Amino acid sequence: MSQSAHPPSVSAVLSSASGQVIVAAHGHAAAVLAIRSAIEEARRGQKLLTDADSVGERALVLLLAALRPRYRPVWNLTGTILHTNLGRAVLGEAAVEAATTAMRRPLALEYDVGTGQRGERDAVVAELVCSLCDAQGAVLVNNNAAAVMLVLDTLARGGEVIVSRGELVEIGGSFRLPDILERTGARLREVGTTNRTHLRDYAQAIGPETRMILKVHPSNFSIVGFTKAVGIAELAPLAREHGLPLVHDLGSGSLVDIGRFGLPKEPTVGEAVREGADIVTFSGDKLLGGPQAGFAVGQAELIAAIARNPLKRALRLDKIRLAALEATLQHYKYADPVESNPTLQLLARPPEDILAAAKRLAPAVARILGETIAVEVCDNLSQVGSGASPTAGLPSTALCLAPASTAHMTPEKLAASLRELPEPVIGRIRTGRVLLDLRCLLPEDEAAFLTNLSALTRPEKGR
Ligand SMILES: *Cc1c(COP(=O)(O)O)cnc(C)c1O
Repeated sequence: MSQSAHPPSVSAVLSSASGQVIVAAHGHAAAVLAIRSAIEEARRGQKLLTDADSVGERALVLLLAALRPRYRPVWNLTGTILHTNLGRAVLGEAAVEAATTAMRRPLALEYDVGTGQRGERDAVVAELVCSLCDAQGAVLVNNNAAAVMLVLDTLARGGEVIVSRGELVEIGGSFRLPDILERTGARLREVGTTNRTHLRDYAQAIGPETRMILKVHPSNFSIVGFTKAVGIAELAPLAREHGLPLVHDLGSGSLVDIGRFGLPKEPTVGEAVREGADIVTFSGDKLLGGPQAGFAVGQAELIAAIARNPLKRALRLDKIRLAALEATLQHYKYADPVESNPTLQLLARPPEDILAAAKRLAPAVARILGETIAVEVCDNLSQVGSGASPTAGLPSTALCLAPASTAHMTPEKLAASLRELPEPVIGRIRTGRVLLDLRCLLPEDEAAFLTNLSALTRPEKGR
């Protein structure tokens, strides 16, 4: 690895033929940055490049790699519709348009166009969501974790919050209810046991320090067998009797009954409100199918207090997401939400549709992958994801890619090369095969999917 000659200087590379090409295409500043990286590589002996033009060529490769967005679109064929690591909900066209306009133009955000006076930032979305779930008021924040935090900080600071042991959840490794509670200066008062909590457990725990009864949707797990949980309807009279706010963290709040998609019954946000919770909190980018956001909806006075909390300013939503939320909720109110909301569309996609797509795509995919990888159409179960209906599977179909045992190809390597595509294809490895669940690959995107897949470096080309 010894180098006889020094790498060329930045100015030498800049004036070389390839250096000139970079400057012309990307400007002087970017060219200098990239050339410095290429020279640094050469100096460390990672690349044996000593002539200016070769260093320039290498700099262009580095620059193009650096310029490629890393928050780039991927094909979510994991079978999980709302995949937190892949950005959860995909927005409907109206929401995308509203968000784009909000980015391009000034907006009547905290401005009442009628009076020319200052307006309320959350008012438009709050009014819409309240009309959809029969709540008296709403506060909008960055995400549901922020909503829970703001509610606790406003209503329970310095006091005790009663929560069932069966509901002390951790969501995605970063939302742990006990930790959030502690941060807000509220103390957790656990009641019941992991599998069973009774109304009397709540009643016995109420004391002078109690500030709130909190019910948390268990979201990403379910306890089965000998279980007992106390519902909001049962808790509401107890909370009222003691003058305590009853808060329900619903997590993936849906505005429509997901039972119609063949999923187990979950209360909608409206049902949760009508059941008697004073405040209901939920996410914008889970089953609602909007941008990342957190909602706290419920009783007018409590909502007003939550909105006045100085922390609200730190957790508030930006104009882009508020505009997207307005468009998303407009559709719930005035149109068939399933037709315009990609999340609901994917949930509602008929299994026979997905099977037909698999049969259509299998031969083309097999041709691209080559002889050493068998492509089969197989049954699969898709998941809602993001903690919604964790135990429910939606009948779906996957392409199962099985590398021949003789080929120098493992499922892991195949999955890795799918991730290296210009638009990474993300599947799942199961029992020695790579599964591509086709629920989230819509018919109108199939051609683009195959074009992207054609860029795959085949194993027989020496990977
Ligand atoms: C998902 C979830 C949260 C966190 O919501 P984010 O919008 O991701 O912050 C909180 N509570 C429950 C019950 C959830 O399911």
